[in-house]
Parts: sequence; C-alpha cells; structure tokens
Amino acid sequence: MFQRLKARTTIMFLATTLVAIFLVSIIANITIFQKFNMYMEEEQEDKIKSIIELVEYAYSLDKQWNRRVLENIDVSPVINGFDIVIRDIRGDVIYNQDMTNSMMEMHRRMMGGMGHGMMDDTNTTDDYRTEIHKVFFNDKKIGTIEIGYEGPFMISEREVDFTKGINMSILYGALFSIAVAVIMGIYFSDILSKPIINITKASNKIRNGNLNIKLKEENKIIEFKELTYSINHLAKSLEEQNMFRKQLTSDISHELRTPLSILQSHTEALADGIWEPNIERMEVIRNEVYRLNKLVEQLKYVADIENHKFEITKESVNLSKLLMDIVENFRYQFVRSNVELKTDIDEEIYIMGDRDKLSQVFINIISNGLKFSKEGGFVYIELKDKKNYILVTIEDNGIGIPEEDIDYIFERFYRSEKSRNRKTGGSGVGLTIVKTIVEAHGGTIDVESKEGQGSKFMIKYYDR
Ligand code: ADP
Repeated sequence: MFQRLKARTTIMFLATTLVAIFLVSIIANITIFQKFNMYMEEEQEDKIKSIIELVEYAYSLDKQWNRRVLENIDVSPVINGFDIVIRDIRGDVIYNQDMTNSMMEMHRRMMGGMGHGMMDDTNTTDDYRTEIHKVFFNDKKIGTIEIGYEGPFMISEREVDFTKGINMSILYGALFSIAVAVIMGIYFSDILSKPIINITKASNKIRNGNLNIKLKEENKIIEFKELTYSINHLAKSLEEQNMFRKQLTSDISHELRTPLSILQSHTEALADGIWEPNIERMEVIRNEVYRLNKLVEQLKYVADIENHKFEITKESVNLSKLLMDIVENFRYQFVRSNVELKTDIDEEIYIMGDRDKLSQVFINIISNGLKFSKEGGFVYIELKDKKNYILVTIEDNGIGIPEEDIDYIFERFYRSEKSRNRKTGGSGVGLTIVKTIVEAHGGTIDVESKEGQGSKFMIKYYDR
C-alpha cells in the first residue's frame, strides 16, 4: 500500500511537517525559557535591592536599631521567601528571620516540577545562595544584612502557571499542526497523484494499441502540462504513423501493380509473337522498369533515413549550373504536358553541398510541380543570393495543398487525398527525402500553398 504515490507523498509531507514541528517546538521552548530565566534573575536582583532599601529606610526612621525598626522590616512583604540576618556595626545579630514558611516548600516543589526538561539549569533546588550586603545611612555603614534564598531565583505560582501554559500551547500547537499536516498531505498528494494516475492509464491504453486518446491538458503544474501534451502528441503521431503505414501498403502495392501488369502484358504479347518488338513498345517497357527502379530507390532512401545511415559529402557546387541543367532535362516533359517552365536563375552561385543529393531535391520538387499542375499552368524556378542565405523558390499554379494537409506533406508516405485521386503515382516519400537532404545541408524548407491556386516551396542554404 505504501508503494503508491499518494501514500508515499502523504507520508513524506507528514514526516517533513513532524520534523519541522519538532524543531520549532524545541527551539521555541529553549529560547522562551532562556529569556524567562534572564527575566527572573533580574527580578531577583531587584527584590534584593528592595530588601536593602527597606532595611535602610526602616533604620532612617529612628536612626538606630530598635524594636520599631525591626518590626517594620518583619511585617514587610518584601522579605517574603528570603532568610534575613541583620547584624549591627559590631557584628552582633540583631534580627534573624529563617525562611521556614510554606513559601520555601512551595518554591522547592515548583522548581522541581520545572526541572524536567523545561529549564537548562535543573539543579536550582539544591542551589542555596547567601549574599551579604553592607547597610548604610547617610554614607555611614550601620551594619550588614545577610540574605539567603534558594537560587537562582524565587518562583511564584503565577510564574509556574505561565511556564506550564507556554508548554501546553506549544503542545496543542504541535498536535493541531500535525492534524492539519495530515489533511493537507492527503490533499496535496491527491493533486500530485491524480494527473500521474491519468497519464499512466493513458500510456497503458497506448501500450495496448488504443491510440485514440486525448488527455485534458489544463494543469497548473507546468511539468504535468508538458507531460500530458507529450502523451497526447505521442498518441497522435503514433496514430498518424499507423495510418500512413497502412496507406503505404496499399499505395506501394498499387504502385507496383501498375508497372508490373504493363510489363507482364507487354512481355507476354512480345513472347507470344502477338506483337512485333519495336522502339515504342520497348520504350514503354523501359519506362515501367525505370518507374519500379525509382520506387525501390526511394524506399531505400527512407530506410537509410530511418536507420540513420544518411550521409552527405560536401564540395563546392555551382548551384546556378546545377539548376539550369535540371531545368533543361525537364524541358521536354513540360512541353509534352503543356505546362510552361519559367526561370529566373542568377549565375555563379555556389554552395557547399552534395551534388547528387541536391539534384534530387530539385528534381523531386520540380516533378511535383509538374505532376500537380493543370494543363496550361506554369512552374517558376528562381535562384537568388539574399546575402545571408541562398534562396531557391519553386512555385506552381497547380492544384495546391489543402490546409489540413500542409503540416503532413513532409511526413513519410503522406499523400493528400487529392493527389491519391489524381492517380499521378508517387509514394509520398519525395518530400521526406527533400527535407532530410536540405536539413542535412544546414538549410530550411518552407511551403506556402492554397488549395486550387498553387504551391510555393522555398529552400534556404546558409553554407557557401
Ligand atoms: P509523392 O510521391 O506523392 O509526390 P511527395 O512526398 O513528393 O510524395 O509529396 C507528398 C504530397 O504532398 C503529395 O502526395 C501531394 O499531396 C503534396 N504535394 C507535394 N507537392 C505538391 C505540389 N507542388 N502541389 C500540390 N500538392 C503537392
């Protein structure tokens, strides 16, 4: 049971509070009683001073030691609790008052009671002290007074009650704080454990293949909020990947089936002698083999990217020339498809890069532009030196990309519903490869597109 987060946090909270309460009680107790002792010692000194003043005042009434003087001293409450011995100038005892009254006993009892852990100096009961002071009248010594008392000071019942009261308040305070700590511990551990329990439940669902989950992301604790967001994101991307992979299986089989059936029908017709072999038919066969090859090559690329086997070897590349050559190679296909190919390529722009892989970037984007263009449309290719970076823009006025698809077009095997319907072919990995190559060159690729109006791909290179 105590293995549960909720129980653990409650216990931890309680333990911390108990330690805090214990320390505060001890420190409060020690400091309060230190101050109390100091206060009481000062009080004692004041009392002794008052006794001396009393004796000197009593003497001043008749200016000699007589009965009236001694009676005055005897009835004064100032001397209560003290043993007093007064001697005249010759040293003869003229007054002796033993502390035999109940005060003495009471004092002993109280000091004993307080000794248990409450005061530092626990031996006060055995500490009988006597002080001898000279007594003066008009600056002339008239005798001595010996004051005896149980030290270090006398304690009245009120003072004992006061100390007991403080101890009880500390005790009640501690008990009350413990009760509050238990309640708050349970409450706080609930706050902490609830989101974790929810997240655990959600990840268990994900483990069991149920990816259709969405946790509430509102939480005041940032870490929980981020964790919930990550779990939601994880479930969503797993679901998307699942969907893409399922789609891929059907796409790939479709992609394979078309060229394979063309190859099969053509080769069978040729083998059976139904068709005479001629250049046109051989060209069809060659194109289909080329299509298959391209598909296998793309799949290998993706496998390499997934296995982190993707490497580039950089050299100085004349990007202007590279782009112009690619444009020339495409020209015939554009003419055939009745799509205009427009360019604005600045000359002599160099970057550090992998020539073959860079070619692949532009071939993929330009062939997409052509593939998704309408008849009579255009594809515009621009290369500019923007000082901080080199910018390649490839724009078309074709079918465009639906808003809901834009975030996914660089994902592996992603193809928009529209492009699938056009039967243009493709595996949905072209842009994944493009992005991987551009980023491996330290560059960036961005896309702007509007459905029905066209798309614009912008690639920035920083490494010249
Ligand atoms: P594909 O092999 O399907 O072309 P890509 O990775 O090259 O794969 O492209 C992914 C998807 O992005 C395409 O299926 C298409 O939906 C969309 N797309 C890419 N380029 C364009 C474009 N120029 N115009 C419209 N849609 C595009």
